[in-house]
Amino acid sequence: MKDGIHPDYHPVTVHCACGHTFKTRSTIKGEFLRVEICSSCHPFFTGKQKLVDTAGRVERFTRKYAQAAEKVASEKAAKK
Ligand SMILES: [Zn+2]
Repeated sequence: MKDGIHPDYHPVTVHCACGHTFKTRSTIKGEFLRVEICSSCHPFFTGKQKLVDTAGRVERFTRKYAQAAEKVASEKAAKK
């Protein structure tokens, strides 16, 4: 191997937000890697439905459509 051109590939411990940890190898700086989701908590592997809601996007969507439904309902009521 040529010197000075290869990144340092070393063992790291991956810590998931669910509490699961496992070891792998990586070129990242440091010995720890934090992740939000892993194979032991991702719905694809667990088979459970779980919403990974970043920055309240689901909440915003439901709020927006609740308002729209209310508006339609009030317009229908006004026509009668
Ligand atoms: Zn996890």
